[in-house]
Amino acid sequence: MTAETDARIARLLHHRKAGLSLGEPVVPPISVATTFHLPQAQGAAHYYGRSGQPTWDAVEAQLAILEAAEVVSFPSGMAAITAALVCCLKAGAKVMVPSDGYYVTRLLGRDLLQVYGVEVVQIPTLEMETADFTGFQVIYIETPSNPGLDTVDIAALATMAHAAGALLIADNTTMTPLLQRPLDLGADLVVAADTKAPAGHSDALFGHVAGRDANLMARIREWRRQSGSVPGPFEAYLVHRGLETLEVRLTRMCASAAVIAERLAVHPKVRGVRYPGLAGDASHRAVGAQMTNGGFLIGFELAGEAEAEGFLARCPLIEQATSFGGVHTAAERRARWGDAVADGFIRLSIGVEPVETLWAAIDAALAG
Ligand SMILES: *Cc1c(COP(=O)(O)O)cnc(C)c1O
Repeated sequence: MTAETDARIARLLHHRKAGLSLGEPVVPPISVATTFHLPQAQGAAHYYGRSGQPTWDAVEAQLAILEAAEVVSFPSGMAAITAALVCCLKAGAKVMVPSDGYYVTRLLGRDLLQVYGVEVVQIPTLEMETADFTGFQVIYIETPSNPGLDTVDIAALATMAHAAGALLIADNTTMTPLLQRPLDLGADLVVAADTKAPAGHSDALFGHVAGRDANLMARIREWRRQSGSVPGPFEAYLVHRGLETLEVRLTRMCASAAVIAERLAVHPKVRGVRYPGLAGDASHRAVGAQMTNGGFLIGFELAGEAEAEGFLARCPLIEQATSFGGVHTAAERRARWGDAVADGFIRLSIGVEPVETLWAAIDAALAG
């Protein structure tokens, strides 16, 4: 992590301090109020729970420190993605989305955006750098993509998008603002599922949009108020708590992932290992250039469906679950959701278990 990132993490941990009076709680209260004392209509910090409330403020303050940008929180990653796309598009507009990214984003394109008159063009992540952006209003990227872990050069795409008069929106879920900073590289908006590593304990759905254009962020905020796409205060609190340990967890998860990816890459039963941190990986050029490290997600293939399912069932330290970024190592065979991957392809999300214990369990499960 850079000194700048270190400073952000420290500020995040103490962000409430300056605003506290004597005897006030150090952690933010879970504020469940929908109404606020309003003897007059103007001048209050909050007036109705759908428009804003104190527990959102606390988590948005943390995320704003990490993103160095304005942040609007949402009840899930998809709610954040919907907000960003709806606010940047209108009937007749064109948006480019990755054909190999998070599949629900593609469904949103098909079932919502297209129905409302937006043209949705799908293209593989790896073809975006050579695509023609003429006529597009939004270029939407996911890098590394989920689940294939392909990457695009964010700065190059921002330049290309802006030259074509388009906005660049980056889904930064697989990296978090600690490992990759799309806004610094020219992206107009970041969207993210804080359900994953930021919350980190597989117990809260949450998302956010971050950006540095005040007008655009005001539209996003107003979309939240009008659509009623609002996070719950308890989830906001859980994400606030999760974010306090994000850097500690990521440090362990990414270091372990690097070790396990190296070992999987030379295992005789494993092929097609994808981990951006591996020197030979197709996404390796992004590490150092725009990613702090290779992250905590690994893709690999076993011989087929039966071998992959057998491996997952045998390994006591792998939670068979969808989603990633939690403290428990988790994995699944992505073809079961219809992702365009081999039948034996597994996406492995490394958790915080001690690495040698974790590897011993994976190695034994691979042996069968
Ligand atoms: C999980 C995920 C989402 C959606 O997040 P939810 O909180 O489940 O709505 C969006 N993008 C990516 C890359 C994801 O992995």
